[in-house]
Amino acid sequence: MIIFKHANTLSRYLHSLRNSDTTIGFVPTMGALHAGHLSLVEKSKVQSGLTVCSIFVNPTQFNDPNDYKKYPVELDKDIQKLESVGTDIVFIPDAAELYPGGHSDLERYDLGYLETVLEGKFRPGHFQGVCQVMSRLLRLVEPDTLFMGQKDYQQSLVIAELLKIMKGNTKLVVVPTVRESNGLALSSRNMRLSVDERTNAGNIFQTLRFVKNNLGSKPLAELKSQASSLLVENGFTVDYIEVAEANTLRLLDELNGKPDLVALVAVFLRDVRLIDNMLLRNN
Ligand code: AMP
Repeated sequence: MIIFKHANTLSRYLHSLRNSDTTIGFVPTMGALHAGHLSLVEKSKVQSGLTVCSIFVNPTQFNDPNDYKKYPVELDKDIQKLESVGTDIVFIPDAAELYPGGHSDLERYDLGYLETVLEGKFRPGHFQGVCQVMSRLLRLVEPDTLFMGQKDYQQSLVIAELLKIMKGNTKLVVVPTVRESNGLALSSRNMRLSVDERTNAGNIFQTLRFVKNNLGSKPLAELKSQASSLLVENGFTVDYIEVAEANTLRLLDELNGKPDLVALVAVFLRDVRLIDNMLLRNN
């Protein structure tokens, strides 16, 4: 496994491989790696000749400065984990490497409706930050395939949009969410939860299951309201629990006959914000 800290040396190295037939798979992360991240690397290894993983806690995507400050950093462990699953290249830049001119006045992307709902609404500027860092990483790595998690469902739609805007040849593969045995989606932020809180956080998954199991059995608005109450009863503060069209994220208050739906949730447990989602079949 080769570790690069500088964009120019990484780009030179990858350039030297480009004339060969090696396909490049790319897994961008913010570190504090868990089995969910490693599942993306494993998927990339199956589908690509060479797998590049980046670790960079991107300041421009944090709308809450405290969340940025408290974001877990575990670089040595991360490197060991990546090595253990056979990652070929790790890119660990610092901020000046990706934002040489600073990050106060960066480019903006037209993400349209996608940026106005759910995470876009509750975390203003978040997806602009995601696109700012991803556009830089994509230009550097120029991957054949980009691997991202379904865990961040809306982010995967935003990145699909970014790939269109960038007009490159990179294909996006969205990998299913890896969960703990109680259903809690693995997340770097779970490290900030106590053992009891982690157990309780399994209720997020249970609530999504409740929505899935009861879809169509009662009016959708009532179902969403019951789901929200369940979360509140279990000690969560709810940002949202919504059902949307899976491809567009158009929010629904009643079932509209479209087959592919997704339930999405964002809650706080104490000051830790957790998101999750579940695909639903409306038939
Ligand atoms: P992050 O480090 O949180 O920015 O996540 C890096 C990538 O890992 C993103 O594409 C996430 O969607 C993905 N990811 C995070 N958690 C999980 C999980 N539990 N299962 C699968 N992929 C995940």
